[in-house]
Amino acid sequence: MRRRTLLQAGALSVGAVAFERVPALQGRTAIVIGSGFGGAVAAYRLAQAGMVVTVLERGRRWTVDGSGDTFCTIGDPDWRCAWFADRPPLGLDVSKTITRGAGLIQKHVGDGIQVMCGAGVGGGSLVIGMFMPQPRRQDWETLYPAELPYSVFENTYWPRARQNIGASVIPSDIQNHASYAGARAWLAYIAEFGRTPVPVPFGVDWNVIRDELAGRAPACHTIGEGPFGSNSGAKNSVDKTYLAWATATGNARVLPLHEVTEIREVSGADRFEVACRQIDDRGGVLSTPVFAAEFVFLAAGSLGSTSLLLTSRARGRLPRLTGSEVGKGWGNNGDFLVARLNLRKTVGSAQGGPGNVKFYDDSNPYARAAMAWESAPIPSWLPSSTAHLITSLAPERGEIRYDAATGTGKVHWPYGEMATSSDKAGRDLATRLWWQTEGSKGSLLTGLPSYDRNTGMGLGSRNTYHPLGGLVMGKATDFGGRVAGYPNLYCVDGALLPGSTCLANPALTITANAERCLDLFLAAHA
Ligand SMILES: Cc1cc2nc3c(=O)[nH]c(=O)nc-3n(C[C@H](O)[C@H](O)[C@H](O)COP(=O)(O)OP(=O)(O)OC[C@H]3O[C@@H](n4cnc5c(N)ncnc54)[C@H](O)[C@@H]3O)c2cc1C
Repeated sequence: MRRRTLLQAGALSVGAVAFERVPALQGRTAIVIGSGFGGAVAAYRLAQAGMVVTVLERGRRWTVDGSGDTFCTIGDPDWRCAWFADRPPLGLDVSKTITRGAGLIQKHVGDGIQVMCGAGVGGGSLVIGMFMPQPRRQDWETLYPAELPYSVFENTYWPRARQNIGASVIPSDIQNHASYAGARAWLAYIAEFGRTPVPVPFGVDWNVIRDELAGRAPACHTIGEGPFGSNSGAKNSVDKTYLAWATATGNARVLPLHEVTEIREVSGADRFEVACRQIDDRGGVLSTPVFAAEFVFLAAGSLGSTSLLLTSRARGRLPRLTGSEVGKGWGNNGDFLVARLNLRKTVGSAQGGPGNVKFYDDSNPYARAAMAWESAPIPSWLPSSTAHLITSLAPERGEIRYDAATGTGKVHWPYGEMATSSDKAGRDLATRLWWQTEGSKGSLLTGLPSYDRNTGMGLGSRNTYHPLGGLVMGKATDFGGRVAGYPNLYCVDGALLPGSTCLANPALTITANAERCLDLFLAAHA
């Protein structure tokens, strides 16, 4: 039933046409590197068109078993939350020692910034808050070129992505539940601040969240958990949607724990070899297979895809990759994380989520900004606290460069603390909100929002969850994601986007853009 709906949704420009295109692509081979939002779309659309698709994913497959213990929690982190690290990547217990393993979140320590990315079959969709907002036209047209018209995304690709991810706004019965005091307090604070709440669609199954509230499913999102995985299964992660639809065609296979180490051109650049390390959960190398295909689709995320090209070029494996734009245009989406005390309203601990609404701050003196509340498993020793993500339309950009010491890419973010307009916009907005709604001025202990980069929790601009760019469309690739110098090498993930998705969390736009790139690919190979 669900699949038929998808095909109808895709029929706008893919479903019906793809069947006519089958003869051109039937039996031709493609490798997709990475299985997050972009990779899952590519796997499905290519398999649907009759191609023989192999998805290589460095992380493991996670099957929610109903025990409530498929994933660890923010409250009690272990190896399952981190990609080969000794400490949890985020949360309230970041100094706890954990065993190294093929867990869910990679923390990349760049030069000046730390970058979080998902790892596992489903990529970032396993760990994200599932916020799926659509950018506004006035913000989009500030940054995106005319070749990527807002109307094309608004009319076709954002609706298709929303439908296929299964994103919808919080139902009123859930927001009114006793576990959602934090959500209601956030609405009240926004009203007092004189702003309009803008509902955010979430890629979750609200019926599973109702099951959590009724005790029929393990409590997860209803107690602020979820970034370390959805133990109730409420997240519509892409392993359950696009990747499942891809394998159901019979034309695609997904190989977990296969980490790609380099891409090599062969046969006059119209075929590729892709070298891997097949690993176990503890990082032991089981084999080093090499796969070959006619087409390669990079979908290892902004950092992963860009790093693979930089590494392959540095090793002389992609000699036609001569453009100077690889690695450029990298941005953090203007991320600025805030924790605030809420002294005048009850927000509760272990707040039900994942979220509800955001608001815009268009008159911010530093950069246009938006702010959302994100539920969190707030412990009783942090009473009245809430977590928020501010994003801003800031112009600063960094770069991913090849790092000879590690043999891979490294993010360079050449800005000091509070030196970017997103830092300044975030601090300005968080502080004004506090002063106006709590009626006092003061230090953290008296309620000033905490945002310093040096707080152990990684607030302010210390971390970003939203790496974007490195292979920006119109620069390192064409507007269909085809890498300059290689007609059969494509990128279809967040690396294509110019450092920002315009005051919106990126996954919806990454999915929408991947759908658009695959439409163009299929049309070009009809
Ligand atoms: C804690 C957290 C919360 C977030 N919340 C939200 C949210 O609420 N809404 C939102 O829109 N965004 C959110 N994000 C951001 C979101 O996860 C990313 O924007 C999105 O997942 C990027 O999609 P992608 O297709 O570019 O790559 P990803 O989803 O990152 O997928 C890339 C995949 O490639 C794999 N890979 C990487 N390197 C290799 C390699 N060498 N070989 C094989 N496989 C490889 C990775 O393991 C991963 O599975 C959040 C991120 C984090 C970390």
